[in-house]
Amino acid sequence: MGWKERKANRKKIASERIKELLEFSEVHRRDEDLSTSSIKTAVAISKRHKIRIASRYKRSFCKKCFTVFIPDKTVRIRIGKGKITFTCLKCGHIKRIPYTKEKIDLKKVKMENKN
Ligand SMILES: [Zn+2]
Repeated sequence: MGWKERKANRKKIASERIKELLEFSEVHRRDEDLSTSSIKTAVAISKRHKIRIASRYKRSFCKKCFTVFIPDKTVRIRIGKGKITFTCLKCGHIKRIPYTKEKIDLKKVKMENKN
């Protein structure tokens, strides 16, 4: 195996690990320490390997304090003109997402986060 394949393989393993960690954090979202630490690890791996975190996961946690977003508990979601505002209730970090892009799965986001 050449270095290029090895590198690609490492990236593949890393991105699978990131996915696992983020899914784990969603399952354990009620456990603040557990979910926050798994998100921290996922973000650290993504930075080390320069892998992007899927947009589906990007809006499921605060990128500043790594808290899992739970509507009305850890995050306030406001839908404004053409954008959705996520306010982290832990650290106050504000994240804005253009509405048009997210329009279709907004309902899904809310449903997913409600459980
Ligand atoms: Zn935060």
